[in-house]
Amino acid sequence: MIKFYLILGICTMTIISAKPITCPNYTQNYPYTDEQIINYLNELKKEYFSHEPEFVQTKIKLKDYRNKAYYLATKPNLVGNLFRKKKRSKKNKTTYIINRSIYFKYCGPGPLAMKAILLHELKHLYDYYLWNKGKTILFGLKYLLSKKFHMAYEKRTDCFSLKANPEFQKGLAQYRKWVVEMIRLNAKNPLKKIKAKNTIYYSEAELKDPHFNCKE
Ligand SMILES: [Zn+2]
Repeated sequence: MIKFYLILGICTMTIISAKPITCPNYTQNYPYTDEQIINYLNELKKEYFSHEPEFVQTKIKLKDYRNKAYYLATKPNLVGNLFRKKKRSKKNKTTYIINRSIYFKYCGPGPLAMKAILLHELKHLYDYYLWNKGKTILFGLKYLLSKKFHMAYEKRTDCFSLKANPEFQKGLAQYRKWVVEMIRLNAKNPLKKIKAKNTIYYSEAELKDPHFNCKE
């Protein structure tokens, strides 16, 4: 009986705290399934990382998470690798994880925006693939502690996507527009969060500027 009340309590709390998400109008047509995102990732890997066949074969898992300001994140499977049997220690057995927002299931950005940002995320995974564990951990610390490092690294990663395909300049601008709209419609303290986004990453306005150039 106690268990029943506990479950009932948790369900009620979840219902109360799970506020409905507001989507920008045009995104209603773009709910993404995991399968679609994995297909995009595999296509992009083949197209832009063919020089590294082992990386093309690495497995990528998607995990859902809920955050109204961060919609995509990547992480190396450090714990999984730590416990992996030596026999299976080849790089191509490594699984990388993309934490993708649950909100893509309700309203994602358009396909060009999605591909441009997924290539940005793939570049992060490629970096983890090239780095050893020590370098990855050191990188994580610098990324967390230094805003300057964080900003330079993210802009460099944007530039990888932009140089790979000139169309992605439009796609990345659409993605940043989507992020700003999602924050404005759904997050607490939206102005502060939007300002932080526009500092760390190239903003929609920067990407739409005809004189835009990657500062690397
Ligand atoms: Zn990034």
